[in-house]
Amino acid sequence: MVNRPRSNRRSRANKEDLKSPPDRATLGRLLRLALPYRKQLILASICLVISTLLQLTFPLLIQRIVDGAITYHDGDIMTTAAIQMVGVFLLQAVFNYGQLYLLSFTGERLVADVRKSVFTHLQRLPLGFYDNQRVGELTSRLSNDVSVVQSGLTNNLIGPIGQVLTLVGGVGMIILIDWRLILLVLLVIPPVALTGVFFGRRLQGVSEQAQSALGTATTVLEETLAAPRVVKAFGRETYEVERYGGAVEESFRLGMRRVRTRAVFIAIITLVSFVALASIMWFGGMEVLNGNLSPGQLFSLPLYILLATGPINALTGVYAQFQEASGAARRLFEILDTEPEIADAPDAFAMPSPARGEVALRNVTFHYGGGPDVLKDLSLEIEAGKVVALVGPSGAGKTTLASLIPRFYDVASGAVLVDGYDVRQVTVRSLRDAIAIVPQEPQLFGGTVFDNILYGRLDATAEEVYEAARGANAHSFISELPDGYSSIVGERGVKLSGGQRQRVAIARAILRNPRILILDEATSSLDNESERLVRQALERLMRGRTTLIIAHRLSTVEQADKIAVIESGNVAELGTHAELLAQNGLYHRLYMKSAAGLPLEEMQPTTDLEELATREAVGTS
Ligand code: ADP
Ligand code: MG
Repeated sequence: MVNRPRSNRRSRANKEDLKSPPDRATLGRLLRLALPYRKQLILASICLVISTLLQLTFPLLIQRIVDGAITYHDGDIMTTAAIQMVGVFLLQAVFNYGQLYLLSFTGERLVADVRKSVFTHLQRLPLGFYDNQRVGELTSRLSNDVSVVQSGLTNNLIGPIGQVLTLVGGVGMIILIDWRLILLVLLVIPPVALTGVFFGRRLQGVSEQAQSALGTATTVLEETLAAPRVVKAFGRETYEVERYGGAVEESFRLGMRRVRTRAVFIAIITLVSFVALASIMWFGGMEVLNGNLSPGQLFSLPLYILLATGPINALTGVYAQFQEASGAARRLFEILDTEPEIADAPDAFAMPSPARGEVALRNVTFHYGGGPDVLKDLSLEIEAGKVVALVGPSGAGKTTLASLIPRFYDVASGAVLVDGYDVRQVTVRSLRDAIAIVPQEPQLFGGTVFDNILYGRLDATAEEVYEAARGANAHSFISELPDGYSSIVGERGVKLSGGQRQRVAIARAILRNPRILILDEATSSLDNESERLVRQALERLMRGRTTLIIAHRLSTVEQADKIAVIESGNVAELGTHAELLAQNGLYHRLYMKSAAGLPLEEMQPTTDLEELATREAVGTS
């Protein structure tokens, strides 16, 4: 469940969900969401019933006025009826308000609850979950799906009660006026209901397609907005406009089809209603002539007919909307049902703080999801306060190894130990409190520089933030920004240069003051001056801490206490710079390339015969 790849487009997922009938389990869970608000819902239903009953008395009062005027020539009857009518409308206004207020309250509350619980759950899910998700899809679930659930629930939970009541009440009143009209009613209601069902189905089909077209448009929108630089760099504006335009046009076309279907439906319903009206009025008129009906009763008939046919239209939509809500709810429940695979064990305890900073990997085997083994029976010890550098070809598993220490992923076999504790034994929180990571591509949030540094330790004082920035060689450039520490860094920090982003990330780590530091050193893309500043900041940061550094450059490596050459998920060579050079193996070769100006990582697995021979010599292939 957890790592199920969702490679299918959202639109398709949407369609599948919409097609399947609302299953009981989902509906049951949906209703349970509304359970905390049952008091409001019951009250709303009572208001609704009262206001519907009040509505049904309206034609009766009209009847009284007409009869007062025509049959009895009695002004008092009319006056009383008119006053009663005002009273009825006043009461109806009150109960309508109550019903609307309570129902909307429930709906809004429900949405807030669901949004919060889904978001909370998303925060608990491990990286492995996100590896297999499209962010756009998750965002859309939190925004669209929740809204669909809201409208599906609030419009349809108690609305049908009122509609059924109006229908039954209207028909009942017609029969009460003249029971023989039941024949005419039976002639009219079934065809209207059947048209309703027929068009309801068609409308639903078109709605599904329209929604999936809209889903496609949204996907294009998200993808494009997420990478404006790529779009511009490759001059793909027109291409994207066409892609988006195509999807929008398609959704317009389907939207129009929906409108046409709906318009035909409404036209037919109206036609049938008015034919019914004409025949009932004709019949009623005849009855007035025969002296069986009063003129007032004749007058109330069309009102009841309109009351009775009105709900049919609404009722046919109920099922479709429930279906939609259930599809949306299913997607939300899917997130809520994803068990976080990385969670505190029931008996997990907080790691003693401050940590000593010993790290050990013991016979670790690891793979992502169901993929091939990325690390194979790998062992590595890092003593407290020492610096260990990881070098090796790109794709060898260095970043993977580093991400096992803060337990971003769990090992398949073997163990990762921090201060002698298996990372699965202690609380994730206490483990990660001891660690700071400066990634290769530092990710900043869209806010201010200050907030981005503060993220390292939320309760730090402003002075501590400045101090951290100084330590990271970031203070001077930040001070030169137009708004200093309050400058907005732009989406993901685009307003800063790579080196500046790095230093903000380092300041963040300094503020955190961790015992264990993980650096995915990314100085290879920096210019010399930035590199010098970043390196200086890093050296300051590393002082006195256990550091695992994924080294892309020579100088770091030379100063490391130990160097681990990682190749194909294993430690191929281990030792100090001097020792490894003397071995004349893979490290020696990497070093030679690096000395020629290439980053250490550039060393790709190769079919070069000489290198293959070297690898065999060190026993790693
Ligand atoms: P390095 O940092 O040494 O360049 P990585 O640890 O990033 O190597 O990657 C090792 C292998 O694991 C690569 O084959 C890569 O394709 C794979 N890999 C890395 N991250 C993921 C992930 N999140 N999901 C699946 N496979 C991954
Ligand atoms: Mg890497």
